[in-house]
Amino acid sequence: MIDIVIANFKMNQTPEETKNYLMTFLSRFDEKVDLTLCLPYTSLSTGEYLCRGKAVRLGSQNISEDEEGRTTGEISGRMLKASGVDFCLVGHSERRKKFKEDSKIVNKKIKSALKNGLGVILCVGESLAEHNTLKTYEVLREQIENALKGLYENELERIIIAYEPIWAIGTGETPMAKEITMAVKEIRKVIADDFSPAAADNIKVVYGGSIDSKNVKQFTSCKNLNGLLIGGACLDPNSLLKIISLL
Ligand code: PEP
Repeated sequence: MIDIVIANFKMNQTPEETKNYLMTFLSRFDEKVDLTLCLPYTSLSTGEYLCRGKAVRLGSQNISEDEEGRTTGEISGRMLKASGVDFCLVGHSERRKKFKEDSKIVNKKIKSALKNGLGVILCVGESLAEHNTLKTYEVLREQIENALKGLYENELERIIIAYEPIWAIGTGETPMAKEITMAVKEIRKVIADDFSPAAADNIKVVYGGSIDSKNVKQFTSCKNLNGLLIGGACLDPNSLLKIISLL
């Protein structure tokens, strides 16, 4: 059942634009899903102020793997927590590619997030070449096992795994519902192997990649999928409201 929605605003919106967005969005949001808005850092205080008292969680799009000090330009877990952030995105493919964030870095970021009381949205997914050469499950296993290395089973309660095939992000291409169902099954199998069958049943798994109001229905039929991660289509408040209304 789909009851989690995560919106990734990427590098869009000034604080003033976020204010206008939220004024429109919050006046019509019926709170029927568990919603996290992953705003740019510079819009977090605006988001925290306007979402106060509403059933909306605040998310960041990244977190430093370091705790504090000599890491110019980075934002730590403690800073995020103190800014009202509940969840942080970790391992988004845009960061894996552009900033060379490998599984070791992703693992450190997750540990720092958990240490500072934050939840984590761990993004995993295969490239087009890996998809075409049937390496999807291998890639998912590597990314998940290394990202979650050293975690205790009870910490998985604060982790959401986002299956985001790289070839589907921002391209208009999406996997078939059956393919997503199979990938979600495989993700749960990795968790069962590394933790326990109960942890595999309980972990939240969402899908992300080119979701919009026209295709959203195809994802609601995916078995054992808990939610959606929406990028481009969340940037217009009416479009995000429409997607939520169709769930
Ligand atoms: C994303 O960036 O995580 C994403 C899902 O983007 P889009 O919806 O634009 O494909």
